[in-house]
Amino acid sequence: TYGAGFFRDWLTAAAAAVDREAGRLTELDSAIGDADHGANLQRGFAAVAATLEKEPPATPGAVLTGAGRQLISTVGGASGPLYGTLLRRTGKALGDAERVSRTGLAEALAAGVAAVSRLGGARPGDKTMLDALGPAAEALGDSFAAAREAAEAGALATVPMLARKGRASYLGERSVGHQDPGATSSALLFAALADVAG
Ligand code: ADP
Ligand code: MG
Ligand code: MG
Repeated sequence: TYGAGFFRDWLTAAAAAVDREAGRLTELDSAIGDADHGANLQRGFAAVAATLEKEPPATPGAVLTGAGRQLISTVGGASGPLYGTLLRRTGKALGDAERVSRTGLAEALAAGVAAVSRLGGARPGDKTMLDALGPAAEALGDSFAAAREAAEAGALATVPMLARKGRASYLGERSVGHQDPGATSSALLFAALADVAG
């Protein structure tokens, strides 16, 4: 099972991955958006990592809800409230348990993914972060490695999709042939999770 330290390590690794890949995320967003996805997440996750270091929460649920709140307040773009809702709702589903199992986390993440879908109105196949998050949360029921692979495959699968939500949807057919930035950053989050799980 996994305690608060594991979840702090996950989000710290996610912040490092976002930092490292910010250029690529922004490049993807410049093709079908407004070229700020890398900077948006860099700002948000840097704030999350700084707070985790200064005031480390004591439970997995508190780590995720606090990080979610911080993403909502520091990220201006659509991805802030969406990722913020993912982490807050997942954290809420974990409750105040000291330690959680991988399958417990998978169930909580499924609730988080459903909340993202309700907030943004997107469904699978709409070329959004949900196309990576949904399969990853489901595959986490099997293993951390399976979740990482499902997220990566989900992000790649957005390339031929037509965007139906968010800025990319304004492009209509011209959104086809590009990988969704949010699905790509979601794959980074699950790669960081698998790394930390070892
Ligand atoms: P903005 O579009 O406001 O500049 P970002 O560039 O940070 O925000 O994030 C864009 C990403 O947000 C998209 O690539 C997509 O994955 C995700 N996104 C946008 N709208 C939605 C939505 N309604 N539902 C789910 N994800 C969405
Ligand atoms: Mg953008
Ligand atoms: Mg923007």
